[in-house]
Amino acid sequence: PTANNSDKRIGVVLGDGIGHEIVPATQRVVTAAVTAAGADVDWVTLPLGLGAIESHGTPMPDSTLAALTELDAWILGPHDSASYPEPFRGQLTPGGVIRKKFDLFANIRPARSLEGVASMVPDMDLVIVRENTEGLYADRNMFAGSGEFMPTPDVALAVGVVTRRACERIAHTAFTLARTRRRHVTIVHKANVLSMTTGLFRDVCRDVGVRHYPDVQIDDEHVDAMTAHLVRRGRDFDVVVAENMFGDILSDLTGELSGSLGTAPSINSSDTQVMAQAAHGAAPDIAGRNRANPTALMLSAAMMLDLLGERRADRHLIGAATRLREAVRSTIASGVATADLGGLASTSEFTETVLARTLRR
Ligand code: ATP
Ligand code: MG
Repeated sequence: PTANNSDKRIGVVLGDGIGHEIVPATQRVVTAAVTAAGADVDWVTLPLGLGAIESHGTPMPDSTLAALTELDAWILGPHDSASYPEPFRGQLTPGGVIRKKFDLFANIRPARSLEGVASMVPDMDLVIVRENTEGLYADRNMFAGSGEFMPTPDVALAVGVVTRRACERIAHTAFTLARTRRRHVTIVHKANVLSMTTGLFRDVCRDVGVRHYPDVQIDDEHVDAMTAHLVRRGRDFDVVVAENMFGDILSDLTGELSGSLGTAPSINSSDTQVMAQAAHGAAPDIAGRNRANPTALMLSAAMMLDLLGERRADRHLIGAATRLREAVRSTIASGVATADLGGLASTSEFTETVLARTLRR
């Protein structure tokens, strides 16, 4: 991918379930925010999932993956592969396949309490930076494509992988982010037990910080102690960097402590590409009923615009991100909220309000 300022293309990978509602809603507000900030967007629509089975005979068409290769940024709708017809049922996690193919090694999940949303930890404002390619979730090709193996039917083994290179790159992501925030990074590990793997993670992250980011304060916590700290004093943390599985678990915890599934945004990024993805799934139980909360995907899209704007030094995109984020926040603060937050607004009513606020000024 080429980061060039004239590239107005943003991909949209269609989703299943509530994806049919929250993806178009997000596109509308992104288009409005980018336009209001003085730039343009050209959407590149790409099928994936149930819709792709109908149009292309496969949930993950090669043409979709090929098109993503050319893009710097895209939105990924939620997918529900458990609902696909045989032989595709439960076969793939589209987000996972894409993360791996494009080496989107950083999963960035902010947890920030929103005015108007009941939150177990008020005033939480932290970001989990999760390493997305290694640890126990690494693709362990040595075991014939599978992540785990069983030497006998009664014994199961899994091998965790931690490399200096992957620790270094996620550490740079975390410390760079900390410089735009409160300049504090907490490294999460379990080096008292997993001393080689998570010990290497801790040591390399600390080294990168000490050497290259002397202005950022560093501390570290065992993952078990960290869960307790988050519940008791979650507001004290700024950037939290963690290996894959710890980051996965901690980010669900912080998402719930700060708000709810419907409000938790995330991006996955490499050094050149960024994918916006809500933390929640396709929510088949409420799909097609105009009840879904598009907040998480809208805030994910704002994070995507921010990063893209930073990479291209394009103040229009950064302006669009700010506009969109403020519109979503002020909409919820004003009492317009979907049912999951205890409100009365439908997906479309919520979206109209965000749209109007995005265009203000
Ligand atoms: P996945 O396996 O894809 O993560 P999941 O089974 O964990 O899916 P989700 O789809 O995330 O489940 O939904 C969990 C619950 O939260 C469901 O009851 C769903 O209706 C609700 N939910 C999730 N996202 C939203 C949203 N954006 N708006 C409203 N409710 C939501
Ligand atoms: Mg889930």
